[in-house]
Amino acid sequence: MLSIDQAITQLLNQAQGITETETISLQQALGRVIAADILSTIDVPPADNSAMDGYAVDTNDLDKTQEHSVLTISQTVAAGHAPSPLIEGTAARIFTGAEIPSGANAVVMQEKCTVEDTLVHIPSNITPNNNIRARGQDIIKGDCILKEGKKLQPQDIGLLASIGINKVTVYRQLRVAILSTGDELIEPGQPLTPGKIYNSNRYLLYSFLQQLGMEVVDIGVIADTLESTTDGLQRAAKQADCIISTGGVSVGDEDYIKKAVLQLGRLDFWRIAIKPGKPLAFGTIDTEEKTTPFIGLPGNPASVFITFLIFARPFLLACQQQRFRSLQTRPVIANFSWKENPIRQEYLRGRIIDTDKVDIYPNQSSGVLSSTSWAEGLVIVPPKTMIKTGDQVEFVPFSELL
Ligand code: AMP
Ligand code: MG
Repeated sequence: MLSIDQAITQLLNQAQGITETETISLQQALGRVIAADILSTIDVPPADNSAMDGYAVDTNDLDKTQEHSVLTISQTVAAGHAPSPLIEGTAARIFTGAEIPSGANAVVMQEKCTVEDTLVHIPSNITPNNNIRARGQDIIKGDCILKEGKKLQPQDIGLLASIGINKVTVYRQLRVAILSTGDELIEPGQPLTPGKIYNSNRYLLYSFLQQLGMEVVDIGVIADTLESTTDGLQRAAKQADCIISTGGVSVGDEDYIKKAVLQLGRLDFWRIAIKPGKPLAFGTIDTEEKTTPFIGLPGNPASVFITFLIFARPFLLACQQQRFRSLQTRPVIANFSWKENPIRQEYLRGRIIDTDKVDIYPNQSSGVLSSTSWAEGLVIVPPKTMIKTGDQVEFVPFSELL
């Protein structure tokens, strides 16, 4: 049996990052992966500016022998307007965000000053740089502000705008085909008929891919026949960069994924030491034009949830050229007990209580999708580990995965 890490390593070794890029506007760029390092061509802010409404002065003009100095107000500088050089021995009325006149080296907040006609009384103990936001305090010209492979978040897009960029070159969205196998499946919105269950995996996978910023090629439901399975896989391979299926990977008479993939390409059946998650199928669908990677997930929805996040997600991110870190866990205290599994690592759907304790959903069956919706993350139980209430366990919050 493969360990989870071995399986992930093998998947990552097989992942081929897409190379095609496109240049899009900032308004379209949320969630996309940038294709090159972004260097700033300007300083931000471009000039020293005032952090306060007040008076800009040269501290050398202040009379240190007096508590206050009296200066003439020689100009007014508002944000957005270029100042004139400061006349020696005077003060400039200035507002927040306005550029500091050359010759001034400090801003005195207006609450500390008293105005008398065209004169202002200023405390003499003001020190240089007081209330000045220095040119380049945020970004220096030439700085790398974002690295290739970063998925753009709202703050990244704001940052790009702050250096004057309105378009960004990103990798083309990965196209991922999804197929649900099973004669028992019926689509939500239809009445439930005898022998049927609603197709949840299709919508689960669709949403995972949407959240990853990828394009979904929805092949729909594949009937439990060899012909239907080969047909679906071929259609998927024509349209997509990667294929993910659910169900049909067991060894029952009605499980056609294995036969179909072997007919169309190459297949590895991996028995991975993970629970939930039956064997994972990994292979390729080969057409004359190209070789398309294929991942066959189990059918049970909670297994789909876990195996997608643990195996398919890193593979897809690597194909999309998105850089990512290995999962960060945090230690918490078990508010439950769990019997040891001799071989497999278990991922329990858990929820934090009292900041550092974790509860698990009472039914951890691989068919119980409610557990995933109730949970806030996964408790990792390594093989050969019994958990008693009060023990320390590692927890991966969904913020690491979703
Ligand atoms: P299989 O591996 O195809 O035997 O599927 C294992 C279990 O998962 C069976 O109970 C299926 O009914 C269930 N299952 C398979 N696909 C789906 C799906 N798309 N939505 C909900 N349940 C499914
Ligand atoms: Mg099936």
